[in-house]
Amino acid sequence: MNLTITDVRLTPILVADPPLLNTQGVHQPYTPRLIVEVETADAVVGFGETYGDTKYLELARPFAEKLIGRQVSDLNGLFAVADEVAVAETRVSGQVDVGGLRGVQTADKLRLSVVSGFEVACLDALGKALGLPVHALLGGKVRDAVEYSAYLFYKWAGHPAGVAAEKDDWGAALDPAGVVAQARLFKERYGFTSFKLKGGVFPPDEEIAAVRALAEAFPGHPLRLDPNGAWSVATSLRVAEELGDVLEYLEDPALGTSAMAEVAAGTGVPLATNMCVTTFAEIAEAFGKGAVQVVLSDHHYWGGLRNTQQLAAICRTFGVGVSMHSNTHLGISLAAMTQVAATVPGLHHACDSHYPWQSEDVLTERLVFEGGKVAVSDAPGLGVEVDRERLRALHQRWADDDGGLRERDDAAAMRVAEPGWVTPGVPRW
Ligand SMILES: [Mg+2]
Repeated sequence: MNLTITDVRLTPILVADPPLLNTQGVHQPYTPRLIVEVETADAVVGFGETYGDTKYLELARPFAEKLIGRQVSDLNGLFAVADEVAVAETRVSGQVDVGGLRGVQTADKLRLSVVSGFEVACLDALGKALGLPVHALLGGKVRDAVEYSAYLFYKWAGHPAGVAAEKDDWGAALDPAGVVAQARLFKERYGFTSFKLKGGVFPPDEEIAAVRALAEAFPGHPLRLDPNGAWSVATSLRVAEELGDVLEYLEDPALGTSAMAEVAAGTGVPLATNMCVTTFAEIAEAFGKGAVQVVLSDHHYWGGLRNTQQLAAICRTFGVGVSMHSNTHLGISLAAMTQVAATVPGLHHACDSHYPWQSEDVLTERLVFEGGKVAVSDAPGLGVEVDRERLRALHQRWADDDGGLRERDDAAAMRVAEPGWVTPGVPRW
């Protein structure tokens, strides 16, 4: 068996995205993703997926060149490669530091997001070469299916008139009745039993009413609300007080570890985050201050599946819960999330996934949610197959784009409907 990497292919694509609203704006009609392929001397091909904006591509290209001749089994070596690439890139483009829905964006996080795409591709190839599922390479599954939550969004019925976009059949959701109708569809189509609402879109009282309506429609079901740090400490505490009896947790009500710690000190409602704990370096302060009770891991920006396991072990040590965050993603990433989640003991909260919102995929067969769960594949690698024609078509869309959609920019998408729109300052309420 020859595990030497002989070719690496990077395919940026644009995938259809419905008009989902958040505190920064609205999803663009198409979102960039990057599909990573590594091929071994034995012609085994492994696939990975990560963010596809230009800044990720710029790091991924030199990274890919450096992988030729290395072993797909050398997963630790990927971090050394990332260091080499990052040093070269920093000289060219400098540090990145822009606030976003995933916390502060740093050059380090960009680098780890690129590593994750390659790590997943290497694990997929290694698993295929050895005839083992990825979960076996990660130590073995502790469950046969991974539970996901319905990821509810306020949304428009369609993208603004005149904008090139794919149609979706979810309809609008702009008030409590719309949110409940959307939740019913999610339950009907996928069997989800826990519900998360993306908040920070409307004044808190409207979002409180929506969660109340969900609680009435689905009594006893776990509910979450995530305004992406849009609220002050006082507003966060008021919402926690009003919804404390129905919330499983409140996700990033206020921005930053200090504000989260203040909220945590004033309520018994657990706080979850994918914004103030997004790197290993942020853990000590947040856990020390008791700022978060659940960390929502994301294998993309935490640097891969094995880093996700390490994060889970740290959380377990400190009695902090763990679950998973999601950005717009396709089936390769859902398969990767499911494989690693299958190996994490004490996963007590359903993971988030945008997958139901993505009508397009690069797989020959879409992954399926049954009873809100994805079965853990025992097939070699990730257990998914890529449809080359679909991949080519979605890449063509990227190639044909004038560059306007190659960077995810929810505020720019909102300006199409509301020309004066700027991302609101924080706290917004
Ligand atoms: Mg979140």
